[in-house]
Amino acid sequence: MTHVNLDTQPEVVRQFVLALSAAPEGTVLESGGRPVACIIAPPMPANGPVERVGEWTEEKNRRRCELIDRKYDHGLTSPEEAELALLQDAMYRHVDRVAPLPLEAARNLHQELLEKVSRARRKQHMTLPFIYPPVPHVRRHGPRGYADHESYRPWLRDEFAFRCVYRLVREIWGLFKGVYALDHFLAVSARPDLAQEYDNLLYACVSCNLSKGSQQTPDPLSCLIDPDVFVTDDGTIHANNLEGRKLLDLLGLNRPRLREFRAMWIRIVHLAKLADPELFHHLMGFPADLPDLSALAPPGANTRPDGITQSHFARRQRGELPEIY
Ligand SMILES: [Zn+2]
Repeated sequence: MTHVNLDTQPEVVRQFVLALSAAPEGTVLESGGRPVACIIAPPMPANGPVERVGEWTEEKNRRRCELIDRKYDHGLTSPEEAELALLQDAMYRHVDRVAPLPLEAARNLHQELLEKVSRARRKQHMTLPFIYPPVPHVRRHGPRGYADHESYRPWLRDEFAFRCVYRLVREIWGLFKGVYALDHFLAVSARPDLAQEYDNLLYACVSCNLSKGSQQTPDPLSCLIDPDVFVTDDGTIHANNLEGRKLLDLLGLNRPRLREFRAMWIRIVHLAKLADPELFHHLMGFPADLPDLSALAPPGANTRPDGITQSHFARRQRGELPEIY
């Protein structure tokens, strides 16, 4: 038997059908002198109107099974069809109430997968310039003993791949020197003893360095990690981890100008890829002036000397440096 929800029909149709179904003996609809449909009132138990959401009982279930048997043995009368439809409906309601399906969990999983797919698409196409590292950063270099922290610059440029650790803006996109700061992760005012410690220094653009000031923030090297933190085509950075969200707020990394800046660079890189491969390789490649760290001699030695063979300069000399990153 087909169920039609009258509540979704035009009001005039709903009123028409309700008027018909009020006739206790049923109604036959005719067209061109021939009957085309019968409307019968739903069955009424002897003691009153049908309870649509009453208690489900063994007795009701027995009746339901009896009607189904009869349906498959020799068919049901119209009133029996209607009675069975109501009993089936009551049984579904009862089961859904007592043993609900884990529909919510399936919905969440479905949503989660949709987000993953859309993130994978974003990676393949548009947001290439702003993909955060997949794992927390492990320091490759360990120079020590420089009297001024500026001397750590070539090490930090190499360590952090010529990009700001906070918002991944690349040296190669800027036209003038001095847009990068050597950021004290723990501020000098709080930890003057770490002022010249390499492991306390980060490579950051001046804008992030200024926004951070001397406040203590979550560590960008461990909380700005893909895919927990990702950028959408509109330039917004999203963070699924608490520390990441806090860092974005503290540094104002989603303020309108920065979102516009990122959205524009995403489009520039995308368009260059389509129309000007040479420009694309330049914008997504390494700078020409890679520092030769093997020529440097930190006064307090280098606690991680093996890192030098993994530096960008050494890898380019061996022909191992990728064209873009
Ligand atoms: Zn920055």
